[in-house]
Amino acid sequence: MQPLIDLHTHSHHSDGTLSPAALAAAAAARNVRVLALTDHDSVAGLAECREACAALGMEWVAGVEVTALWRGQEIHVVGLGIDPSNTDLAAHLSEIVKRRRARIASVLERLRRAPRLPEGELGALDALAVPTRTHVARALVALGAAESMQEAFERWLARGRPGYVPPDWPTIAAATAAIRSAGGHAVLAHPHRYKLSSGGRRALLGEFAASGGAALELDLPGLSPSDAAHLGELARAHGLAGSAGSDFHEPGQPWRPLGRFAKLPEGTEPLLPRLVNTRLE
Ligand code: AMP
Ligand code: MN
Ligand code: MN
Ligand code: MN
Repeated sequence: MQPLIDLHTHSHHSDGTLSPAALAAAAAARNVRVLALTDHDSVAGLAECREACAALGMEWVAGVEVTALWRGQEIHVVGLGIDPSNTDLAAHLSEIVKRRRARIASVLERLRRAPRLPEGELGALDALAVPTRTHVARALVALGAAESMQEAFERWLARGRPGYVPPDWPTIAAATAAIRSAGGHAVLAHPHRYKLSSGGRRALLGEFAASGGAALELDLPGLSPSDAAHLGELARAHGLAGSAGSDFHEPGQPWRPLGRFAKLPEGTEPLLPRLVNTRLE
């Protein structure tokens, strides 16, 4: 089997279900050779992930997925090769987590007041270390309010639905600044998933590059070859490299398996070699 890499994954320190050690073991079983744990707004799982990767003979990159807001939309910036002990980054993440707690508390309050929500408890999800709407969606499925996570989002959490609370996050420039302050490379996550016109997408990439962004994710589940080619051209135009990751959250989502071949569009520079100094040998 050809070796794979994965520079975008989650553990139970944010909205994944596996421990960092179990994630590393699952990645090794898929023949992943370089793994980055990139929990939402948390570096809490990195030490455990690093140890597990070392024990499995896998290379490891310290990562985080930082939540940001651009033109009213939630945008995710992955930081790779970060120093997890950097205090600027820690302060930035703790501000986001504070806002996450307030947002999820407000989502829960709205849902509890919503008509037609089945009887039962959603739980004190706002008290989690990094509360996310994924946790709420899982609780809604467990309650029988939706049959799938997708349906939970569409029926209860999306804009215009009973549990919708608009996002309020720091800017993209603040996210890249915090990542760079920690010695990391800022990567725009899943650029095809944002609901933007093609002009909007170009503007986002331009601002991201201007604010110190280093790369775009260009090999990930759900990105068609034609979209990848188009994004690859934009990446080259803005001097951005390419990254690859699964955005794995839990086993049992076969459409998002761990590991990518890191096949980038023609002419795109891979980010991975620039992470070499931060990787374990
Ligand atoms: P939050 O950051 O609290 O707004 O939660 C966003 C997270 O929810 C993302 O990181 C995804 O993992 C997850 N998510 C967003 N939309 C969906 C969806 N339609 N179906 C399943 N998961 C989703
Ligand atoms: Mn997530
Ligand atoms: Mn994301
Ligand atoms: Mn992610």
